[in-house]
Amino acid sequence: MVLESLEPTLVWEIFERVFTATPRESKKEEKIRAKLKSWIPERAKSQGVDIQITEDGAGNLLIKRAGFEGMESAPSLLFQGHMDMVCETDREAGFNFDKDPIPVRIQDNGDWVDADGTTLGADNGVGVALALAILLDPTVKSGPLELLITVDEETGLVGAFALEPNSMGITSKLLVNVDSEKLGVITIGSAGGGDTTLTKSLETKKVAGNAAFYDLEITGLFGGHSGVDIHKHRANANKLVARMMSKLVKEMNVHLCEWNGGSKHNAIPRESRVKFAVESDKANLAEAILEQARSEIYTYYKMTAKGSTPLEPDISIKWSKSESMPAFSLDESLNIITSINITPHGPLRFSPSVEGLVETSNNVAIIKTEGSMIQVLLSTRSSVDTELEFFRAELYDIAKLSGWEIVLNPMYPGWNPDPNSPFLKFIQKHYEDATKTDVKIEAIHAGLECGIIGSKIPGLQMVSIGPTADNAHTPDERVKISDIPILYTLLKSVVQDLPNAKI
Ligand SMILES: [Zn+2]
Repeated sequence: MVLESLEPTLVWEIFERVFTATPRESKKEEKIRAKLKSWIPERAKSQGVDIQITEDGAGNLLIKRAGFEGMESAPSLLFQGHMDMVCETDREAGFNFDKDPIPVRIQDNGDWVDADGTTLGADNGVGVALALAILLDPTVKSGPLELLITVDEETGLVGAFALEPNSMGITSKLLVNVDSEKLGVITIGSAGGGDTTLTKSLETKKVAGNAAFYDLEITGLFGGHSGVDIHKHRANANKLVARMMSKLVKEMNVHLCEWNGGSKHNAIPRESRVKFAVESDKANLAEAILEQARSEIYTYYKMTAKGSTPLEPDISIKWSKSESMPAFSLDESLNIITSINITPHGPLRFSPSVEGLVETSNNVAIIKTEGSMIQVLLSTRSSVDTELEFFRAELYDIAKLSGWEIVLNPMYPGWNPDPNSPFLKFIQKHYEDATKTDVKIEAIHAGLECGIIGSKIPGLQMVSIGPTADNAHTPDERVKISDIPILYTLLKSVVQDLPNAKI
């Protein structure tokens, strides 16, 4: 074993012998599930601990340990993490994640564990190993413990969505998720979300009279994640195109031919391209308007800096004359341009309870034209479910007024932060005892399994914690060795003190 010398030995043994030894890409978790189901009972037996394992139809596993003598009726605590990992390599010859164990190693300076040219799977193997070691530790004297290991978190929280807590046998009302990536931070909230699809199935026709056709393209933007990067003053390429086109439609007739921008629902679009026509004798005016708009946008995004970096240093706006092509009617062109221009992008509201947290946001994520059909995908997030519904209803009304067919795709729930939760105070006290410093309380504007699990267990109090890990989902992923004994001590004191706590 490579990690044999590291403490606590049981945590590292589980991480290496069970998790890194067993390939476990999302949707290919059969091997890790089989391994967990055979290894855990065997090890529990040799540790003298009584463990039960349940599997549901989705492939989630629940591991239960009864309360210690005299603590059988103490509050039950549920640990939770996920069994799958993102498989990425930068080895030239590639890496067979279906067959070969993760090439785990200790970095030369002895501070970090990583893998040689692949993702490590510390996300979430180390977190689950920490929790499992607590259940398997005969020196831990606690009330009832449960550990839920979900399947297929990385491709869309699939296991959490499928979970049926009652039929699975979950009884806890307190949850510690172990999928966070920074020592000294307790996460207490996440965003829910829902996508909205707008569609117009139109006719395209040859443009009558003398027309000048243009191809306008905006490229070179930062983009980024539409949740965790949404507050960073980055430009949305679709919205910038709308801003320029809305200046044109105020001065002249514009026929839209096609519009394509953005590629993922969870990414801020980095590029957007529109083709349109104006009357030939308005071509000079159109170019002057575009020039003015470009100059304003460049001045703002290239000259305004956040810290020392301009907001969008590489933004490029170009247009050229293009070949003639069929176009949408004037009315529909105006509807499309105006409705995208008034649809908001970015943070819509900040949280009143967690400083600096975006509570609700919207991303005008994708615009695409296929033949005579034009479609827009909006992606809205909020940590408060009722606010999510309300803002989506606003978007619905904007779209309705401009004649779009609207489909509200199903929403997933957020985890509304509760800074006053007694369970949080309890965890925070133990955390500060374990690290001897203040901890930070945070929430994120992106989806976490806690949001979904919390919506299925009424009254569940949750926190999320974990060791410092860098570069998740990349071959540079690594986890900090010295954080593991600290977290083990923390979890042990939490479960041992819980029977005395008033929560
Ligand atoms: Zn994870």
